[in-house]
Amino acid sequence: MSEERNLPRCSGITSSGTRCERVVSYEGELCYSHDPTKAEERKATASKAGKLSRKGNPVEEVVALRARLDEILNDVLEGEISTGIGQVAATIIGTSLRSFEVERKQKEYTELAEKVEELERMYRYRREDTAGPFDVGGYS
Ligand SMILES: [Zn+2]
Repeated sequence: MSEERNLPRCSGITSSGTRCERVVSYEGELCYSHDPTKAEERKATASKAGKLSRKGNPVEEVVALRARLDEILNDVLEGEISTGIGQVAATIIGTSLRSFEVERKQKEYTELAEKVEELERMYRYRREDTAGPFDVGGYS
């Protein structure tokens, strides 16, 4: 573990005023968040993440989210964005995807409940057919 302690750390200052302790590849290097030459890249990544809107067709949203996840994976593999940024972005997208899943299940359940109710009503109608059509839909 002493090996890890000797790794070069970013000398940037975090927003809370403490020194950034992120591991960098060589002494004096600044990490992705603190390197001023990466500012443009950070902005691009932030705007990519900002494109995650919540409106529109859920299926299209899920497809778009998956595509973005794929883009991020490629960017990480090609070294265009740091693994840290990629990880955060992937986590956010993953959470978003899960929320769609919950939404979908809830919708499925509601639809199923409505169908069951409709079937019950039809069944009751058939059974009460002999009693006359005026009993249809009654919950007595
Ligand atoms: Zn830093």
